[in-house]
Amino acid sequence: MKVRRCYNCGQPANKDVVALNQKLLGRSVNRVLCIKCLAEYLECTEEELLDRIKQFKEEGCALFADDNVS
Ligand SMILES: [Zn+2]
Repeated sequence: MKVRRCYNCGQPANKDVVALNQKLLGRSVNRVLCIKCLAEYLECTEEELLDRIKQFKEEGCALFADDNVS
């Protein structure tokens, strides 16, 4: 799969973080932020974002499904 990089700092953003970008910022988002920059942008902590990822996974959100890698 293609590695997405944060458009702010250039750090690689993993699949879950990309999915979180889509979930929180809209599915059509082309530029992704890494978890650190996303936390800064949303004025929350990285920990809170990791909790959100976990929560979305538990809800079975399709964006976070493991077979969603194309
Ligand atoms: Zn970043």
